[in-house]
Amino acid sequence: MFEHDVIVVGGGLAGSRAALAIAQNYPGLDVALISKVHPIRSHSVAAQGGIAASLQNVDSQDDWLTHAFDTVKGSDYLADQDAVQVLTQSAPQVIIDLEHLGVLFSRLDDGRIAQRAFGGHTHRRTCYAADKTGHAILHELVNNLFRYGTKIYLEWYVLQLIYEEGEVKGLVVLCLETGQIEVLRAKAILFATGGYGRVYNTTSNDFASTGDGLCLAVQAGLPLQDMEFVQFHPTGLYPVGVLISEAVRGEGAYLLNDQGERFMANYPISHNKMELSPRDITSRNIALEIRAGRGIGGGEFVHLDVRHLGAEKIISKIPFAREEGMRLLGIDCIDAPLPVRPTVHYSMGGIPTTVDCQVLDQQSNPVPGFFAAGECACVSVHGANRLGSNSLLECVVFGKRAGEQIGAYVQGRAFPKLDPRPYQQQAEARIAALLNQDGSSRLYPLRTELQNLMTYHCGIYREEQILSDGLEKVQFLKSRYQNDLRLDDRGRIFNMELTAALELQSLFTVGEVILASARARRESRGAHYRQDYEDRNDSQYLRHSLGFVDSHQQVQTSTRPVNLSLEALDPARFTPQERKY
Ligand SMILES: Cc1cc2nc3c(=O)[nH]c(=O)nc-3n(C[C@H](O)[C@H](O)[C@H](O)COP(=O)(O)OP(=O)(O)OC[C@H]3O[C@@H](n4cnc5c(N)ncnc54)[C@H](O)[C@@H]3O)c2cc1C
Repeated sequence: MFEHDVIVVGGGLAGSRAALAIAQNYPGLDVALISKVHPIRSHSVAAQGGIAASLQNVDSQDDWLTHAFDTVKGSDYLADQDAVQVLTQSAPQVIIDLEHLGVLFSRLDDGRIAQRAFGGHTHRRTCYAADKTGHAILHELVNNLFRYGTKIYLEWYVLQLIYEEGEVKGLVVLCLETGQIEVLRAKAILFATGGYGRVYNTTSNDFASTGDGLCLAVQAGLPLQDMEFVQFHPTGLYPVGVLISEAVRGEGAYLLNDQGERFMANYPISHNKMELSPRDITSRNIALEIRAGRGIGGGEFVHLDVRHLGAEKIISKIPFAREEGMRLLGIDCIDAPLPVRPTVHYSMGGIPTTVDCQVLDQQSNPVPGFFAAGECACVSVHGANRLGSNSLLECVVFGKRAGEQIGAYVQGRAFPKLDPRPYQQQAEARIAALLNQDGSSRLYPLRTELQNLMTYHCGIYREEQILSDGLEKVQFLKSRYQNDLRLDDRGRIFNMELTAALELQSLFTVGEVILASARARRESRGAHYRQDYEDRNDSQYLRHSLGFVDSHQQVQTSTRPVNLSLEALDPARFTPQERKY
């Protein structure tokens, strides 16, 4: 059995920032980072538009409380206000930290960090590195980890979270290169395992965003919070779903329907902010235009037009968006509009944690030895709808905080008592069973079927019966996965089909929890829109939902309260009210 004081799972922004905080502040601790892909291939590297902080470089009227208010309002009042306070108050300092680590931000003429407009933010506060911000930040974080000599388990896949006797003790891990299985124990474990976009058939997320961490938590008997809130980004390139950053609208792009109208003006909820309305509203409007037959040529997409910005601005401010259009569709946005439609982008929900990143169980008690941060966590700063550029911020603020908290937490904490043998044997048996099963169902068609089911039954618009049918169908499909799968590759070394089969288990588990949570919330709030319950219902649903699997392996739901602490500081702004823009 291997052991480390602290194990961080995930090499994206949240995991790397946490591991770095431990290496910097607690040099005596043995910290290891595990990642199923090379850390700089984590989805964070694809983040484009930027990271929010009230630096006041462009807009002297901005401050953290205004950033906090925009975030809470954007969340449709479901965010925990104590966590939002930590997020927005810490933001300017974490940007300065990143700069000191070597991150190359875009600049104003006077040399200060530039800031651009983003949807739902009332001030220009999004810092950026052209439209390749995630790339700029992640590369510096990972370089710094190499500099500190942090142990990295490169391309190791976590198979199981060991949670016994009321504490988290370790992990079961598969080395993808050799097929070897190991049990690891630690005094504390941090999950920073990212999102689950691949549960759906059209997503901006990378292939590794399969919600593994979420599934492992559920399988260990822990709940997931607010999983019904799936963010659809308004502008996925049609038909592939690859992201065209919100920075493009931040720089002034128009959304046009088949009649050439800027249709955002036709909806009362978006006629003020137009293309810079929050994502839930913009995505719904695009879906409505398409439904009404006003997609381009009556089809499944609208146009995103930047021609009026001019070549110089396009090339300097949004070069990546232009490259993507040319590379994937052969369209140069200097000369022609880009076809776009909403694409699954981000998970507002996740593993519930305290503001100090410690994971909470179903009774809202902290789980000893277990922490989570970044997209897989639900601390909750985004509530029912995340504002663009607040996620990179969450990863950096709560990644750093998690590292600092864990460093202090493990001082004086002994290694847990753990017998690795049963875990090792079970994992060996599970892998052998997957490899040797002689069913008739093939992996990739099963995955596509699941993704299509989720997209149809739990998309932008939802309804009780369609959700119930979806849950039933997903469970039926899961039984085929469990009993009737056949893999073509039966080897243990770099078996990508085996990895995909393990990831498919995650997609099933996460999909079930999303459907059950969406069915239980009989109201419309943020990204969760119920056609059979079109209004927000604070008296019953101003609560976080919890989805979990009971001892009979059935999905169940319950709720827990929302923290409204900023309301006391500024009741006029923070008391829940109707969300208008
Ligand atoms: C195209 C795109 C553009 C975006 N642009 C922006 C933006 O401009 N601004 C913004 O604020 N947000 C943006 N976002 C959102 C933001 O990038 C993500 O929410 C954030 O980067 C997630 O970081 P993370 O560290 O939580 O996870 P990730 O970066 O997704 O990393 C997850 C890590 O977990 C590891 N992992 C997962 N499962 C396992 C397992 N079973 N075993 C071992 N390792 C595992 C992976 O190897 C990986 O290293 C964007 C997202 C996308 C998809």
